[in-house]
Amino acid sequence: MEYSILADSFFKMESTTKRLELTKILVELFEKTPHEVISKIVYLLQGKLRPDFEGIELGVAEKLAIRAISKSSGIPIKKIEEEYRKGGDIGHAASIILEQKTQTTFLVEDITVERVYETLLKISKSEGSRSQDMKMKYISSLLNDATPLEAIYILKILLGTLRLGIAENTVMDALAVAFSGNKDNRKILEHAYNVSSDLGKVAETIATKGIAGIEEFEIILFNPIRPMLADRVKSEQEAIERLGNEFAAEYKLDGERVQIHVEEEKVALFSRSLENISSYYPDIIEKIPKAIQADNAILEAEIVAVNENTGEFLPFQELMHRRRKYKIEKAVSQYPITVNFFDVLFSNEKSCLELSYAQRREKLEKIVKEDDFARYIPMEIVRNENEIEDFLENSINAGSEGLMLKQLDKPYQAGSRGSYWLKLKREYQNKLGDSLDLVVVGGFFGKGRRTGNYGTLLLATYDEDEDVFTSICKVGTGFSDESLDQLYQILNPKVTIKKNPRIISEMEADVWFEPELVIEVVASEITLSPIHKAARDKIRKGAGLALRFPKFTGKIRVEKTAEDASTNEEMITLYKGQKKVAHDKNLI
Ligand code: AMP
Repeated sequence: MEYSILADSFFKMESTTKRLELTKILVELFEKTPHEVISKIVYLLQGKLRPDFEGIELGVAEKLAIRAISKSSGIPIKKIEEEYRKGGDIGHAASIILEQKTQTTFLVEDITVERVYETLLKISKSEGSRSQDMKMKYISSLLNDATPLEAIYILKILLGTLRLGIAENTVMDALAVAFSGNKDNRKILEHAYNVSSDLGKVAETIATKGIAGIEEFEIILFNPIRPMLADRVKSEQEAIERLGNEFAAEYKLDGERVQIHVEEEKVALFSRSLENISSYYPDIIEKIPKAIQADNAILEAEIVAVNENTGEFLPFQELMHRRRKYKIEKAVSQYPITVNFFDVLFSNEKSCLELSYAQRREKLEKIVKEDDFARYIPMEIVRNENEIEDFLENSINAGSEGLMLKQLDKPYQAGSRGSYWLKLKREYQNKLGDSLDLVVVGGFFGKGRRTGNYGTLLLATYDEDEDVFTSICKVGTGFSDESLDQLYQILNPKVTIKKNPRIISEMEADVWFEPELVIEVVASEITLSPIHKAARDKIRKGAGLALRFPKFTGKIRVEKTAEDASTNEEMITLYKGQKKVAHDKNLI
């Protein structure tokens, strides 16, 4: 298929934001697309080469692209950079340069979608010391044969700046129209997408096998299923109104959701956003196959950091120590985890999505053999407010965030936030009972709308004993444009070259301020933190206190000095009070 057809469609799509128009352009494009290339077209439309979970990154830097343009046009790098600075877009700079070139040279060869795609794939796979040169060769060979318009979209894909604004749903609408003549068939396509997370594969299936093929679409082991999400309720009473007289309550653990695909010794782990996270958890990869009693399975669990000695659940932040590329073995032994299973989506070649919650839980308990590492999430059947309250109290005391409430007779709804699962947590805002006054000690530069401002601030409490300011959280929400400007004016003269020694923080800010300004924040709760320094070692050795979901209230407490800010003593009292009041109905 000629690449110019795709480039023309990209051009048309870039000039509209209307969903109906976008759908029309897509339908026309799909109708011109041979079945063998449809999946490639669908990935390219989203600026990708493969579905997200495969983690294929193009990773081409602007500098390299500029060198490649220079190589294929013979025009010096300086001149290209000039064009780039004028327009702010490399694709357009290249098209202007190539415009000049095509007047003097012949086009050698028409480029096809297949060629562009294969070349981009080679670029994404090239590694090692010579990879920069190889990448440049590949890019310039494409640009040699590209028309200016084609070049724009080759470069945009390469640099990750192709933003057509087409939602997955719009692609599915267009596929339904182009290949079944009926937009309503999108619902069926959605199901296929929800179980495969691979829009290219869905497109290829409907193009080659029609809607019947989509209806038969099955779960593919090692392709992640889009997770089912929960709605929120504010009280036990509301949960009963929505779920009826009898339902399951599970601890809502504060960890990382993981979808585990396993077949014999082969294991893959996917995060909630379907990223492959296998490399962070070599302990799961090693131990889980031994705990699974099935030929193959897809299971869902919450990974939670634990205290090795007491077995107590630790807050989510502890898992961040595992997010590293190197020395993972050390992190594995320093930050032990447990895997807490709560669902089964597939086992022994069969989908379990249509089974009811009760059937799935029963199956789960047969498939997973519990041990110290692999466990089931605690679950109880509840029938009234008192029972929910009781279980909620247990769950909070065990260090979890609240409860997940699940309807017993309902299937697993992949990819949707239905009303079959509800979450009951302590309310987010200001449930500490009061707002806090904290000292601004550091700033992080903003992005986007906040460029040129401090987008996020590092805040500290006052430690009366040591007469120092200890970090307690970063805050980036609750700011209006106006308050950001105002804070910038106030904070800028307080910038110091070196961190004031009274600031105690492990976190490195972009800029440090004299600890003088106090602002007011609210937060959902106080948690233990391995990073922050407030009340360090006071509740638990090696841990400080941190605020969860802090939000600026808009109040700059100019009347307060830094020593008037909330103290660590106060934080400890609030932290201890939290556990007691958690089950107070008024607070949930
Ligand atoms: P939220 O992130 O507040 O929307 O809550 C949903 C998240 O809670 C899921 O993505 C899981 O990571 C987590 N979670 C903890 N315990 C459970 C459970 N028992 N069932 C389902 N999800 C759970």
